[in-house]
Formats: sequence, structure tokens, C-alpha cells
Amino acid sequence: MPTDHALSLTDILAAQRVIRGQAGDTPLVPSPHMTAQAGQDFLLKLENTQPTGAFKLRGALNALAALPAGAAGVVCCSTGNHGRAVAYAARLRGIRAVVCMSGLVPEAKVAGIRALGAEVRIIGRSQDAAAVESRRLCNEEGLVEIPPFDDPQVIAGQGTIGVELLAARPDLTAILVPLSGGGLAAGVALAAKSINPKIRLIGISMDRGAAMRESLAAGRPVMVTEHASLADSLGGGIGLENRLTFPLCRELLDEVVLVSEEEIRDAMQALYYEDRIVAEGASVVGLAATLAGKVRLSGPAATIITGRNLDMATFTAIMAGQDVRIGDLVVKGKPYGA
Ligand SMILES: *Cc1c(COP(=O)(O)O)cnc(C)c1O
Repeated sequence: MPTDHALSLTDILAAQRVIRGQAGDTPLVPSPHMTAQAGQDFLLKLENTQPTGAFKLRGALNALAALPAGAAGVVCCSTGNHGRAVAYAARLRGIRAVVCMSGLVPEAKVAGIRALGAEVRIIGRSQDAAAVESRRLCNEEGLVEIPPFDDPQVIAGQGTIGVELLAARPDLTAILVPLSGGGLAAGVALAAKSINPKIRLIGISMDRGAAMRESLAAGRPVMVTEHASLADSLGGGIGLENRLTFPLCRELLDEVVLVSEEEIRDAMQALYYEDRIVAEGASVVGLAATLAGKVRLSGPAATIITGRNLDMATFTAIMAGQDVRIGDLVVKGKPYGA
């Protein structure tokens, strides 16, 4: 059993009731290809089927349900899956959502957030400037910031995936969890290990800028340099003031494995060509680690296909075996199976 934390399985079961009918109960499907490759039953939890295209809706819905009475609305700084989730959840609840972002954010992402009904506030040329504006909105206009991972309600929301996994397959021996700030890994690990203390939880990050892995190795939260990656949703730090996800991941993750850009590319191709699933780089790292022989499985295992939000030109280029360029990163093309 996990030791006493600020959070427990009870909070996750409460979150499950909160999100029911709006974000829960995504499909869990077998992957015949991955089962053959791994030599064990290998299942995919399809969070790419969420209405916002990623699991973060679970945490956002749970956090919004816990807002103090009198909150004028919510604010966040994410232009990625967290921002989409907060925008969608706020519209569902009929409250104001503001997403602060820097002027460097691509127009397609801005339009995507606006289309979900949020106000977009473009401030300065950095994430830091966006964070300052977000704090001002909290102090002066009574908005409440919804953090992307280091928040008890967010972690409990993401943890509902662990409860669903073990309800569907009590015989799971391992769960492979994409790992960035660790809200997903902390929640899923807390749920799964509370239900079955023997289950193994393996976090997987990309090998460039793996903030949680570096922090675990250092024994405290550390800063990492950010790099362009096919797994862009796994970028960013864990926060030097991290309160919850760092201690939870330190206690509950059995292992953290890193994968390369080429391994992510190969796994995106395998998931598409074999299982016919379109998914973003961050969501295939569990497959990538397994296909690369970096994890040893000794019974039924599942990974979480965390999201599907990626640039389709990048996706089709990868599927066609063409080189792709993301910022200063070039990932060499390779036809599937070649
Ligand atoms: C946010 C995100 C992750 C990582 O979740 P953390 O809670 O930050 O560890 C993984 N995959 C996708 C698609 C995400 O959006």
C-alpha cells in the first residue's frame, strides 16, 4: 500500500463520480501486434478518444468541480492539452476561462483554444510573461489558476484511469505511463498500487529534457533544458516548488525509462499501421520502450495512449517515411517496417 500522502484512493474514487459521463470510461483494447512483440497480453487505454483528444480533461473537470464558491472563472498558461481541457471543462460548466500564452505560440494552437470557447490573452514573448499575467488575473479579477499537474484535484482526476484499468483487467502486472510533470503517473500509480500493491508502474519520458527522471536522480526537483521532440506534450519542467507529483513519483514509480526520437517515430508508425490509431508522440512512449526492448514484462500489461493532438502534416510525413523537422530537431524518415 502506498504510504500516507495528501491524496488517497478515496479522492480518486470521488473524482471518478465527478467526471462520469463526461470524460471517463474510455476504451481499453488489446493490441495483437504489441501482444506478439511483447510476448504478453498488451492493452491500450485509448485516451485519444476523449472529446478534447487527450486525458487531461479528467483532471480539469475534477479541478473545476472543486472551485471555491465565488470564483470568477479559471485561468491557465498551457497552449497544449491542458489548455484545451480547461477551456472545454469551463464551457461545460458555464464559467469563464482565460488561457494566457506568449506571442510565439503558433496561430493554429491559438485558434484551437479559442474554438473551445476560452479567452486567449497573448502576453510578451515567453512563458514567464504569460505566468505573470495569469497571477495578475487571479489577484485582481478573482480567477483561479488550474495547474497542469501539481494539484491534488488534477492528480485525482488523472488517477481515474488507474481505477478503470484495474476494474477492467485485475490481472494487469504492469502499467506503462507517459511521464512529464507526473500528474498522470502519480494519479495512476496511486490508484493502481492502492488496489494491487504488487503491480509495477513504469514511467516513460523522451531522452531529451526528461525533467522528472533528472529530478528523481538528483533527489530534488531540478531544471532541465527544453528540447524540441516528437513527444512535445512531455516537454517542460516539474516546477522547482513541486509539492505533490515529485514525492508521489519517487515513492510509487518502480522505474523510469527513456526513449529516443527514432524509437518514438517507430512506435507512432507501429500504432498507426498495425492498430490503425492516430496518436501524438507523447502517447506512444510506452510502445516505444517495449518495442525497443527497454522494459521487461512478465504478464499482462497496459499502456495509456494519452492523446492525439498533433500537427497532421508532421503525422503524415512520419507515416510516409519522410524526414520531419521540429524546431532545431530533424528526425530522419524511415518507411514502416524497413
Ligand atoms: C500532459 C501529457 C502527458 C504527461 O502528463 P503529466 O501529468 O504531465 O506527466 C502525456 N501525454 C500527453 C498527450 C499529455 O498531454
